[in-house]
Amino acid sequence: MTRAFLVLNAGSSSIKYAVYTTDSKKMFSGQVDRIGLGPAYNDGTEEIALPVARDATHATILDWLLPHIEGLSDTLNIVGAGHRVVHGGRDFAAPARVTEDVIAKLQTLAPLAPGHQPHNLAGIKAVDRRWPGIPQVACFDTAFHRTQPRIAQLFAIPRALADDGVLRYGFHGLSYHYISTQLPHCLDRPNGKVIVAHLGNGASMCAMQNMKSVATTMGYTALDGLVMGRRCGELDPGVIFHMLRDRGMTVAEIEDTLGTKSGLLGVSDISSDMRDLLSSDSPAAAEAVDLFVYQACKKIGALAATLGGLDAIVFTGGIGENSAAIRGRILQGCAWLGADIDDAANTAGATRITTDGSRLAAHVIATDEEGIIAGETQRLIAE
Ligand code: ADP
Repeated sequence: MTRAFLVLNAGSSSIKYAVYTTDSKKMFSGQVDRIGLGPAYNDGTEEIALPVARDATHATILDWLLPHIEGLSDTLNIVGAGHRVVHGGRDFAAPARVTEDVIAKLQTLAPLAPGHQPHNLAGIKAVDRRWPGIPQVACFDTAFHRTQPRIAQLFAIPRALADDGVLRYGFHGLSYHYISTQLPHCLDRPNGKVIVAHLGNGASMCAMQNMKSVATTMGYTALDGLVMGRRCGELDPGVIFHMLRDRGMTVAEIEDTLGTKSGLLGVSDISSDMRDLLSSDSPAAAEAVDLFVYQACKKIGALAATLGGLDAIVFTGGIGENSAAIRGRILQGCAWLGADIDDAANTAGATRITTDGSRLAAHVIATDEEGIIAGETQRLIAE
């Protein structure tokens, strides 16, 4: 039998999984997409509609998925599981072994990440139903940012609120953790001043020094910062009062508007998907892309100021890894920081996409959140 760890990344509309040997070698992976709209399973070899209701819950889908994964190999022995958990609040600055107490704490954070945290916890509970008592590890998207100085975490609101935990937590930490492990392989000065831009459906940036997070664009929730596929990013809180008071919107309607109907989708009125917008000839699509690039350049300026300079930018995430056009436009906006783009390298998707003489280096690194979870799961279970 092959002793293996299951890694689960349960999001709002998809559940990604990967199976690793106990020495962290990836065996296989796959995902269920279109949750809520008629879920479909795909692992690169087969694509199947799930034998569940169109609007099946995450729990129902997981109760189908986990036996399916186990059945993919006759010799598989799942001995532990690692989970991506979006919010670890103040208590979790590192991955944690799952206990009843840990689950109870994570449940209290669900209102801060309503689109993710309940699904992350559904994954933990489903694993326990399938393989009762196996060790499980929760890896947090917030944990990597706990090294930030207090000043980077504070909002300018009454002290008592900050004391109660209303702070800038930041997210995408598993991705940033992975990228930080790759910096020594790519950069001349990995300990220098680096901005990592994770640009996917969710998008954020992290300023790093000595490969640790010192500032980030997301906040108390994952709504703040950059323009995202469906999330608004930076917003004057006065807009929320206007929606409440003058437009009679409920809190749930506002949450839905800012969390799922804004961003690229809201501005373009066409799609949340960058590929659709780049191939559209609609002026609104062009404006959404322009705003995405504008806000990205603005945040790079702000993060470079917190670092007191900038040596390198790293692009990752679906847009960062795949769109030469968006990388090129963002780097044009960084000419003042010394970026000199190597157009051929950028178009070819090379690792380094600035010229040898460029004062600011820019790199493309594919992220691997599942790999980080597998490694941390192995480490904690071995302990
Ligand atoms: P998630 O945050 O859900 O993990 P991804 O990191 O997969 O999302 O990023 C999805 C985004 O990446 C979508 O906006 C998609 O259009 C974009 N993307 C993927 N490939 C390309 C490409 N070749 N050009 C432009 N955008 C791309």
